[in-house]
Amino acid sequence: MIGARKCNRLAPGCESVGVECVIVLFNRDLRVHDHPALDAACDRARSVVPLFVIEPKLPSGHRGGFLLDCLADLRSSLRDRGGDLVVRRGDAVAETMRLADEVGADAVWTSADVSGYARGREGRLAAECERARLDFQLFGGVTVVAPGAVVPAGGGDHYRVFTPYWRAWQATRRRAVLPAPERVALPAGLAPGRIPASFPGRRGRSAGGVASGRSVRHGTLAGGETAARERLQRWLRFSAADYPDVRDDLAGDGTSKVSPYLRFGCLSPLEVVTRAEGVGGEEFTRQLCWRDFFHQVAYAFPEINRRDYRPGGGEWRDDKDALDAWREGHTGIPIVDAGMRQLEAEGWMHNRARMIVASYLVKHLRVDWRLGADHFFDLLLDGDVANNSGNWQWAAGTGNDTRPNRVLNPIRQAKRFDPDGDYVRRYVPELEHLSAKIVHEPWKLPSPLRRYPPPLTPPPTA
Ligand code: FAD
Repeated sequence: MIGARKCNRLAPGCESVGVECVIVLFNRDLRVHDHPALDAACDRARSVVPLFVIEPKLPSGHRGGFLLDCLADLRSSLRDRGGDLVVRRGDAVAETMRLADEVGADAVWTSADVSGYARGREGRLAAECERARLDFQLFGGVTVVAPGAVVPAGGGDHYRVFTPYWRAWQATRRRAVLPAPERVALPAGLAPGRIPASFPGRRGRSAGGVASGRSVRHGTLAGGETAARERLQRWLRFSAADYPDVRDDLAGDGTSKVSPYLRFGCLSPLEVVTRAEGVGGEEFTRQLCWRDFFHQVAYAFPEINRRDYRPGGGEWRDDKDALDAWREGHTGIPIVDAGMRQLEAEGWMHNRARMIVASYLVKHLRVDWRLGADHFFDLLLDGDVANNSGNWQWAAGTGNDTRPNRVLNPIRQAKRFDPDGDYVRRYVPELEHLSAKIVHEPWKLPSPLRRYPPPLTPPPTA
């Protein structure tokens, strides 16, 4: 055994002399490529135990099934390399320590995360490792640039405004993308544990998943690193070049849809950025930088999902009927209803639609952004605290928007980003017979033809 080491945030270059057996605890990094903790373990230790702990707090509907795909795929990749994914159920810290005792591990290495919950778990694990005299290290890999690695020259522990962050982020030196390890040397005689076929009884409506071979498709995407790498490869080859022109086209399929894979770490954000540079142009990289931006905000402000980042969001209305209508896609504003129904059906929503529905809830219906964020978080495949709450606070004017009073006019947005009405017709079948001219404003039909419910709020004019 080596001496206990203080939890040092992100020490990928740190040599651990004489490590015999390392537990690599997986969380939001379900991949073998460009995985700093796994790479270091395979490089420096005699044996490696990749571990995932299914905690009692299960992910919601869409994400639960996606996670199971990810675990099955990760296990298969590790088995191909002579290892395995050890799966345990219970409290992540308790199970890790139990396994460390069982295999005689002398180190626990894991990827650093940003949410308050994840950091609480990291803190407990560090303390337990110290008590048991195990080496504990946190590695990078969840973001391109680690939270806190760049800070404003004028002071403060994080950037509050995106554009200066973007400049600093672009100027950071990046490490090389790591290959997947060739061999993972698992200690003999270890029971790998079962990956459940499904998670019982969680809220979150079924995505109408369709069985496809080994994996189940959730909405439109199958989980796991293999599917992620295929998707990224196809997108970079065939679609990325058009991204700046089509990324806001609601009906098109012009964005990468890699967000769920980034959420679960099936893709390394550093690898995505590195491979995308020069293909998708600056616009795509800039979006990935938004992800890092919100992660560094969440790291500095762990209550991001509950408390206004910038106080003074105003009075919220307690209107359950309006909230229910919004959730169910029955507000009477077709573009809002289409977005909400896409979310329900696919566990995903186009970014432009997310902006429109969020703005409608907080700025028109005046319902608290936390209720909208909770609903998104329940249903989104890519739902993560930093991006979800960061974007919701941005929409509500309580976050990092430099124009907090901005209101998106849903009709103008609809006409601009869904000019033919195809997006609305795809998700709101009641309107599929209407032409582009009227589909965004069905209340303008002559009254005998008006069958769509009237808007909850007086319709804004385009
Ligand atoms: P692309 O356009 O292909 O962009 C590539 C990647 O850049 C995305 O995968 C994502 O990782 C990142 N990105 C793009 N836009 C943003 C953004 N505004 N903020 C942060 N990162 C961004 N994204 C999440 O990953 N999880 C969430 O829970 C989430 N909640 C959101 C809630 C609201 C109200 C809004 C307005 C946006 C939210 N987003 C969230 C951001 C964005 O909508 C999604 O990342 C994007 O739609 C994912 O699709 P894509 O992979 O095709 O994106």
